[in-house]
Amino acid sequence: MNKVDSETAAERLLVQGYELVADAESADVVVFNTCSVREHAEERVYSRIGALKWEKLRRPSLIIAVMGCMAQNSAGAVFRRAPLVDIVCGPRQAARLGDFIAQARAGQRILAIDGGDRIRHHKAPRNVRVLDPADAPPFARCGSVRPVPYQAFVTIMQGCDNFCSYCIVPYVRGPEISRPAEEIIEEINRLVETGAREVTLLGQNVNSYGGGLPSLLRVIHNIPGLDRIRFVTSHPKDVTDDLLSTMAELPGVCNHLHAPAQSGSDSILKLMHRGYTRRQYDDMLERARRIVPDIEIASDFIVGFPGETEQDFEQTVQLVRSAGFNQCFIFKYSPRKGTRAAELIDDVPEEAKKRRNNELLAVQEEVSARRNRAKHGRILGVLVDGPSKSDPSKLAGRSPGYDIVVTEGPETLVGSIIDVRITDSTPLTLFGEIVKHAPAIR
Ligand code: SAH
Ligand code: SF4
Repeated sequence: MNKVDSETAAERLLVQGYELVADAESADVVVFNTCSVREHAEERVYSRIGALKWEKLRRPSLIIAVMGCMAQNSAGAVFRRAPLVDIVCGPRQAARLGDFIAQARAGQRILAIDGGDRIRHHKAPRNVRVLDPADAPPFARCGSVRPVPYQAFVTIMQGCDNFCSYCIVPYVRGPEISRPAEEIIEEINRLVETGAREVTLLGQNVNSYGGGLPSLLRVIHNIPGLDRIRFVTSHPKDVTDDLLSTMAELPGVCNHLHAPAQSGSDSILKLMHRGYTRRQYDDMLERARRIVPDIEIASDFIVGFPGETEQDFEQTVQLVRSAGFNQCFIFKYSPRKGTRAAELIDDVPEEAKKRRNNELLAVQEEVSARRNRAKHGRILGVLVDGPSKSDPSKLAGRSPGYDIVVTEGPETLVGSIIDVRITDSTPLTLFGEIVKHAPAIR
């Protein structure tokens, strides 16, 4: 989602005559797009801004802007902590960035956070001009800026109404709003015309999409020239049989589901306000595996949530051992001011959070190694992204289940979907050889 926001901001500035440069030293304007999901992410932004200090002193005309959720959350406080900053703006202000830059060039410091009923006090110092929120049309974007032509992200909804007790997203991104299907289709058509073969539909909770995700998938599936559709993130409570059978039925919809569990313990799930029990989560896994052949399921976990005992954590470990996720993102709990969990005592010591984090990672690594070994001999369809990061003489891409697959082949294959027979693997990567004329699982 943040990548899309960055692309949208860049797209708007390009239209206004700006150009992208490779590094901050050669830039006249530096825009930091930020995240506020964990404190660590916010701290990193401040250290990145701090790293520009000498550049800004050497070149006072350098404009520094901070946009996104951390900007929305901290608002005027950003100017106090990082006095070098000229512009602070919310995630939906990308369209106005050009105006803000012009005002900053004229010597003003600008604060423009997104409006709505969840707005926070702006906390701005007196020498900052606070602009009224004039939210841009929320989803408008042409998709002209993206790292590779054959893959694109498409926002289908913004905001979130779930209010999981630990999470800042509903406060900074506002209420859940679904984007009209016609607008989504129009954007995907444009993306396909400019070379997209795969789209990933984005939202905090895509499977509560207003018009129904299964019917949206059906319409998108009919777009000629589009080979693959993914969607993230799915909320476990909204993974319906209808969605699963639509995934099974439509060959272009990848067998890939990201449905974060967050914890394996009922008492923690309840404190997290997740809206499902462990049993319901297990049932969702069972239905997914039964209905969608070869489905790959990924999950997120938070360790060290307030009140998490060793027994609670053991239940999470047991879930990871038994669920067969192909990928897990594991986070140490980070209290976020203003959320309900922030009122609970953050009572799991940092040491225990760290240990649980590492233990869970190790369990998932074992699971991934085993799952990957079981794929040896299989043929998978791979959309080639480009050279492999670890060995640039080879090609890397993604299988429908979102596994990384590395193979030897000519660079001319970048952007195409090839059939690869898996011959070897590590916990994170599958290796294989290109096969011709073999039926692949796309
Ligand atoms: N909307 C998505 C993900 C939102 S944030 C969903 O509901 O699945 C991405 C991940 O960050 C979450 O899944 C959660 O695991 C993690 N996260 C969110 N808030 C956090 C916090 N306060 N501390 C630690 N991890 C957090
Ligand atoms: Fe946050 Fe929960 Fe909404 Fe995901 S579903 S964005 S974790 S509140």
